[in-house]
Amino acid sequence: MTGIFIALGTNIEPRYEHLQEALRLLDHHNDISVEARSPIYETEPVGYTDQAHFLNMVVRIETSLEPLELLTACQGIEQQLGRKRSIRFGPRTIDLDIIMYQDAIIQTDVLTVPHPRMHERAFVLVPLKQLAPDVSVPGLDKTVKNLLEVCSDHEKKDVIRWNKTDLADA
Ligand code: ADP
Ligand code: MG
Repeated sequence: MTGIFIALGTNIEPRYEHLQEALRLLDHHNDISVEARSPIYETEPVGYTDQAHFLNMVVRIETSLEPLELLTACQGIEQQLGRKRSIRFGPRTIDLDIIMYQDAIIQTDVLTVPHPRMHERAFVLVPLKQLAPDVSVPGLDKTVKNLLEVCSDHEKKDVIRWNKTDLADA
């Protein structure tokens, strides 16, 4: 058993509140409980670099939901948070990605598990390593620790431990 992991990311202020609210909604879901949370990291945007820095973290959950039901629950939380503050069709205030679901390997139009880009994303691997360094990623048969070792230094240096006290500098 590998566990069920969800990655959270936000780059719209108030970022910390968005993480807290998403965690609260996840944990308050009848069929989901948040069992462990990684530290929070501040990360450079990857891909579209012309946007604000992210806060990222990973949580381990327990759930009786099937993977597709879990995706629906995550998207419901994204919508609840997105509607609260951001402009219509604007960037989402929170992104919830299913990183791994036990040993499942899923490839459908709407859901790919393990997350297809997790193995190259330091902003997922760094927090995930805090929770599950020795878990073997289904389909890749490499541990989280191993994947991070081959991740580029360039990516890793852009993932920095963030504390709530950093808010004082904002
Ligand atoms: P991204 O997370 O890539 O920035 P979105 O959050 O907008 O983009 O997700 C786009 C689509 O990715 C969703 O509509 C969802 O159906 C799909 N998807 C595929 N695999 C996953 C996964 N493991 N976790 C979350 N969404 C996924
Ligand atoms: Mg997503």
